[in-house]
Amino acid sequence: MRLLVVEDEPDLQSLLARALRGQGYAVDTAADGEQGLYKAQTWDYDAIVLDWMLPKLDGISLLRELRRKKKTPVLVLTARDATDDRVVGLDGGADDYLVKPFEIKELLARLRAIIRRSTGITSNVIVIGDIQIDTGAHTVSRNGEAITLTAREYALVELLALRRGKLVTRQVLYDHLFDENDDTLSNLIEVHVSNVRKKIGKDFISTRRGAGYIVDG
Ligand code: CA
Repeated sequence: MRLLVVEDEPDLQSLLARALRGQGYAVDTAADGEQGLYKAQTWDYDAIVLDWMLPKLDGISLLRELRRKKKTPVLVLTARDATDDRVVGLDGGADDYLVKPFEIKELLARLRAIIRRSTGITSNVIVIGDIQIDTGAHTVSRNGEAITLTAREYALVELLALRRGKLVTRQVLYDHLFDENDDTLSNLIEVHVSNVRKKIGKDFISTRRGAGYIVDG
């Protein structure tokens, strides 16, 4: 999953990016509203963490502009706790909001929830054959036995599982698994697929030559 964090406060921005990357998300960042809107319109993010008070273009204006074209799930961060502001945020198209200061644990849980709602998956656990994928804990197991994956391998498995039965093109994988700072070496999709096959079983992910990959197709 690839996320965009729009936050002008440098310490908070890097704290959020670090915490989210630690969970296996690819993370792009923007430090003002204009840059944030540009990135949000350019890429299909799985979710956006959006600060309310931003230079150049405030969060709520960014959100209104984005909503003319895209349904990307948006979690708004606000220092305000007034009911009117909450209403403005939710009416403006926010999927959820969090009042500063907040705990990272809560931000992660709320993000997972808005992403889950957007994918139409109602349970945290996706079961494919004898493989269980826990999208809350970010773990994969076979018949209850844990399989150790790297954060990126997990992200690959989750992305394919959320789109089970559908062909996922290499371009979609690149767009959702890697962020703007990733170097080319870490971008080798084939290597990650091959490593996942070694750990989960060679039949779990099917290759469609020249097109992409599919799980449970
Ligand atoms: Ca701010």
